[in-house]
Amino acid sequence: MNYVIPAVPTPVVPVAGGAPDAVFPVHRIYCVGRNYVEHAIEMGFTGREPPFFFLKPADAVLPVAEGTVGEMRYPSLTKSLHHEVELVVAIGKGGRNIAAADAQSHIWGYGIGLDMTRRDLQGEAKKLGRPWDIGKGFDQSAPIGPLRKTADCRVGPDTKIVLEVNGKVRQSSEIGKLIWNIGEIIEHLSAAWELAPGDLIFTGTPEGVAAVGPNDTLSGRIDGVGSLQVRIVGG
Ligand code: MN
Repeated sequence: MNYVIPAVPTPVVPVAGGAPDAVFPVHRIYCVGRNYVEHAIEMGFTGREPPFFFLKPADAVLPVAEGTVGEMRYPSLTKSLHHEVELVVAIGKGGRNIAAADAQSHIWGYGIGLDMTRRDLQGEAKKLGRPWDIGKGFDQSAPIGPLRKTADCRVGPDTKIVLEVNGKVRQSSEIGKLIWNIGEIIEHLSAAWELAPGDLIFTGTPEGVAAVGPNDTLSGRIDGVGSLQVRIVGG
């Protein structure tokens, strides 16, 4: 292979447990929209609709190693940067048309991520019927903590997911409140795209999304999975 320009390295996410230099190579980042009832309501929607998906570029990840505080630059063009704390599913084995019942064998592990959103730009895109990319898929829009392999995680309906901003709880829910559970998400997603090792799935956020600004510190945790700390800088 003789690249005519320098090839950009594959984005990676740290891994908890195992070898200190172990990393997870990222292929694609899929995100589920409106997957907790109370969040759908706060965004102005009701009722169960089929799951829908959007993507972020793989290099939108902002990997944050265990016990460290990641730094996210306040992004350009927005006056409303929102946090969305989410359980992230890391795919280890790809496939098409994966049945919900078989989904578990395709999952390598789990992590905690933030689907950071330029809410004002997303809102404008919605209103105008334009793509969400500028609101969702910007640089550093996917801070993510270390991934942990399935056998080392405890993820069940009672698993707590929490986000604090400057020590105050903003989002608090349980994984059991997902409208579409992890198996169903993988079934729907793999009907639309062929999943590949390295795919990350942001599974949706609970209620309580709100704006953050420079110098705010976001601290998220999913019991039995991991934690993540990010400070917003600049602006
Ligand atoms: Mn989201």
